[in-house]
Amino acid sequence: MAWDRSGVKNPNWKGGFALKSRYIRHRALGHLRADSWGYVDEHILIAEKALGKPLPPKARVHHVDCNERNNEKRNLVICENHSYHQLLHLRTEALRRGALPGHLPTRWRAGIRLSEQVDRFLQEEAIA
Ligand SMILES: [Zn+2]
Repeated sequence: MAWDRSGVKNPNWKGGFALKSRYIRHRALGHLRADSWGYVDEHILIAEKALGKPLPPKARVHHVDCNERNNEKRNLVICENHSYHQLLHLRTEALRRGALPGHLPTRWRAGIRLSEQVDRFLQEEAIA
């Protein structure tokens, strides 16, 4: 018999949310972004509630303070896609290092695989 991980039979049951990833997750059966267990990241649900509709498929949600468990509305930014999300992380890193957010020396980017789109954002900013 397969172990039933759903609902109250699960020893990790915490009344509707699970802590099996670095994110806080809630059971939301039938949600477009639900995993195979029926769980959705809490920040997705909060962003969608604020937006009043499901997030577009490519949208990502960023945590401003980089604390992935701080899902207060004011800590969340809906990004149109993964590339824009990466860009916010790079800018945050620049600020953390005391630089202007748009100033991202190549050496800081070493080891971070940037999508072409992020590279384009950065080049456009450099020209502007
Ligand atoms: Zn982020």
